[in-house]
Amino acid sequence: MQKFGKRVYKAPINAGFTCPNIDGTKGTGGCIYCDGGSGYFTDSDQIPITEQLAHQIALIHEKHPNAGINAYFQSYSNTYAPVEVLKERFEPVLQFKDVVALSIATRADCLSDEVLDYLSQLSARTELSVELGLQTVHDKTAEIIGRGHTYKEFLEGFYSLKEKGIRTTVHIINGLPGENEEMMLQTSISAWKAAP
Ligand code: SF4
Repeated sequence: MQKFGKRVYKAPINAGFTCPNIDGTKGTGGCIYCDGGSGYFTDSDQIPITEQLAHQIALIHEKHPNAGINAYFQSYSNTYAPVEVLKERFEPVLQFKDVVALSIATRADCLSDEVLDYLSQLSARTELSVELGLQTVHDKTAEIIGRGHTYKEFLEGFYSLKEKGIRTTVHIINGLPGENEEMMLQTSISAWKAAP
């Protein structure tokens, strides 16, 4: 609010990516909580990205006419593609006059050097946040939920974003199978320490 001088709302987008935990690279079943790439509020990926965004902006502006928009690439792993593909999908949304920020949801193991360089460029041009799904710091739980990467791999991706000065949001889940209060607190404290 203070930064933009007005409220900013997220407009969720399904940009038609996939995920290494679904396409067979790391797994095929996805995380146990994954539902269609976890794009719970998006339109279909059969609709062009700019049309999805225009639709979501219209919905937000019905209730909040002056709101700024955070274009939120929510479904699947939104850096899991060559940089040229990322540019095709991300660049058009920055042309919308109401878009003041960009959120890109992805996995910590989908951050190649080329992708990191491009994200760094984006970060210099707009208010970017890369959203990483950690869920838990415990590898035993990660196996149960089928996350498909270790906590060490998460930290490698996370710190590579930090080194580039890219703002990062860490998603966690409390109440995962087999976790007690102490384990959940360990995850929460880790995510809190990682906060910008
Ligand atoms: S990382 Fe995200 S998109 Fe991939 S399987 Fe897990 S919840 Fe689904």
